[in-house]
Amino acid sequence: MKAVPPKIRASSPAWAIGLILGALTLVGGATVFFFNPATHGFYPRCAFHQLTGLNCPGCGMTRALYALVHGNFSTALHDNALLVFALAGLMMRAVWVVLRKGRAGRAGEFFPAILLWPALVIALVFTILRNLPAFAVLSP
Ligand SMILES: [Zn+2]
Repeated sequence: MKAVPPKIRASSPAWAIGLILGALTLVGGATVFFFNPATHGFYPRCAFHQLTGLNCPGCGMTRALYALVHGNFSTALHDNALLVFALAGLMMRAVWVVLRKGRAGRAGEFFPAILLWPALVIALVFTILRNLPAFAVLSP
C-alpha cells in the first residue's frame, strides 16, 4: 500500500493583504485623527494641484476626513463633498452586503465592476465642477 502524499494547496495571500491594508488603515486613521492636516505639514501635497493649480477629486480629502472623524460634518462637506458622499455610499453598500449575506448565505462582490464607470464619471464631473468659479463652494 502506497502512502498518498498530502495535497498542497496554493495559499492565498488575501489574508496577508487584508491584514496589511487593515494595519495601514488603522495607522492612517490614527494619524489623521490626532494630527490636523491644516496645521501639520507632514501630509503629502497634491501633485496635480501643485502642477496645475486646479483641484483634483482628492484635494481636501485629508482635511475632510479629519473634520468627519471630529464630527464637523459641514466642514467635511466643504473640504471634499465627494469623500463624504462616497463614504456614505460605501457604508450603505457594506450594510447591504452584510444583510444580503445573512439572508442568502453569500455576500457577492463589494464593489461590482458595473459601478466603476459611474464612479469615474461622478469623480470627473465633480472635478470639473469644483474648478469652475460658479461652483467654488465645492473647492476646498
Ligand atoms: Zn488634488
